[in-house]
Amino acid sequence: LLLLIGLPVALVISITRSQHPHTGEAGNTILSDFPDSTDGLFKGGPSINIWNELKKSLSEYNSTLTGPIIDNEYMETCEIFDNNPYMTAAESTCLQFNECRFKFCLPDLNAGSNLPTFVANVRSEKAIEVAILFASENNVTISIKTTGWSFKGSSTAYGSLMVLMNTFPKDGTILNKYKNSCGSSFPAAVAVGGGEWVDDVLEEVGDQYFTAFVPFTRALGVAGGFLQGGGVSLTSRTYGLAIDQVIDFRVTLANGKTVLADQCSNHELFWALKGGGGGTFGVVTKVHYKLEPKTSFISLHFSFFGGDVAHAQGDGEDYTKAIKEWLRFWIEKSPHLDHRWSGVFSSTYCYLFFFGPRDDATFIDEFNDWFNNDLNQLYLSSSKWGASLPKIEYHSSWYQYRGGSSAFRNPYSILESYIPNLWSVSSRLMEYDEVVNAPEDTLRFLMELSFTGTTWNSPNFLLGGKVSEVSVNDSSIHPMMRRSLWAIYIFESEGQKVLKKHFKSKENACLFNFHSVAEQNRQAF
Ligand SMILES: Cc1cc2nc3c(=O)[nH]c(=O)nc-3n(C[C@H](O)[C@H](O)[C@H](O)COP(=O)(O)OP(=O)(O)OC[C@H]3O[C@@H](n4cnc5c(N)ncnc54)[C@H](O)[C@@H]3O)c2cc1C
Repeated sequence: LLLLIGLPVALVISITRSQHPHTGEAGNTILSDFPDSTDGLFKGGPSINIWNELKKSLSEYNSTLTGPIIDNEYMETCEIFDNNPYMTAAESTCLQFNECRFKFCLPDLNAGSNLPTFVANVRSEKAIEVAILFASENNVTISIKTTGWSFKGSSTAYGSLMVLMNTFPKDGTILNKYKNSCGSSFPAAVAVGGGEWVDDVLEEVGDQYFTAFVPFTRALGVAGGFLQGGGVSLTSRTYGLAIDQVIDFRVTLANGKTVLADQCSNHELFWALKGGGGGTFGVVTKVHYKLEPKTSFISLHFSFFGGDVAHAQGDGEDYTKAIKEWLRFWIEKSPHLDHRWSGVFSSTYCYLFFFGPRDDATFIDEFNDWFNNDLNQLYLSSSKWGASLPKIEYHSSWYQYRGGSSAFRNPYSILESYIPNLWSVSSRLMEYDEVVNAPEDTLRFLMELSFTGTTWNSPNFLLGGKVSEVSVNDSSIHPMMRRSLWAIYIFESEGQKVLKKHFKSKENACLFNFHSVAEQNRQAF
């Protein structure tokens, strides 16, 4: 199955590389192809000669400059990427998947462009410094891109010089007794290059340690917007946000200097990078993350099935009651779960993980009791719809659970979160107190969300636990993140209206990369 999926994708990449000059570094148009008279193409920016100087300087650091990207040509060639997210995420050809596919690549929408003029494919810190100094001397906007997964397209900007981190060297060195600049020692750490993906770091660390900071989506950058926006993962409740697991950053600043930021060096910058949003303070070139000892864990998975069938065969009322029963149970139990529980839930499922011995995982017994006595007995009488038996599994390795070596750069794994529609993500934080003090209101809200528009089944993260133990002053993440119980997501417009109705304050929208100044549109969500 994997081969079948992988093969056509690889084929498309090789064909488009040779056919389309503006679609990637390989075979891209070189600057010398353009005579001086093309200056008008550069959107009022520096002349071709000046760009050529940058190209030359970058080449001294093994780095290249591609472009200029000319909107019209780009639009003509862009349709080929329709429906091809591997190209957009992995090859950085389409500059921002959402915007490119649905707005800026289709000339008839005439929506303007967010494409940069040139792309610096940087391969060293020195090259980044050169690019930044060039931009500041010539009054050119810098955009920084690792994967282009930013929901709002903050990794690209019209007329900018894009610093593309995809080409930046990977690191992956594992260090024992790593010391920060205060001299504090950490038992184990991994050095991650500024352009690495989750996929890279999972493979680099392998089975030696436990990477408690990585999110579910393997194609996300692990040092860029994900991290600097806070970094929520399947294990956050137990181990904290990704920013809570960072020891230090190396960052190239707007003045072209690269500095270390940690507890004792550039402490305010360290604080700012932990939640201030990707691309806000500089280009992150390296991160040292803490590594946890390899650990076994237990997973608990449960899901409803056949909602449509239930409605079609006249059992809609019972199905609705069953969902309500689940949400009522979850609202009652989730605020008080042991901190060793982490995971995600929705109206129709939960994927939970327990990092500790079975004897301590008493929630499994409560869950089974509830399932057998309250849910199953009361509502689940049909074989065509209902809920699967809770599945309890024991795992010895997080790396293997995440797919092991066969998941690395596997198109199927990388695309695991591909959503084949215009992404219109809304997210809200649900505060602990709100759930505990007003369980009936919470239930009404979740029920409305569950039965408005399409089924509300996006993964909603369980927060609290370790996330709430970290002081709000330790990072620049919005304080609400530290006092929330859940992060709620919705991907379609009807559900978004329910979110807006329930959450009157705009503060609750402070999720994902929405902390960044470039993401200020969050309030419109
Ligand atoms: C399918 C999908 C699943 C997601 N799942 C999760 C999840 O589980 N948990 C979670 O917390 N978030 C998740 N997100 C949100 C994600 O964290 C943000 O979209 C984030 O901005 C992506 O960061 P990136 O570096 O990969 O993307 P990019 O689009 O490349 O960059 C995002 C921002 O960071 C900046 N940036 C990138 N690299 C650097 C760098 N090296 N130095 C400085 N700035 C940089 C860019 O300029 C831009 O502003 C998900 C997003 C998608 C699309």
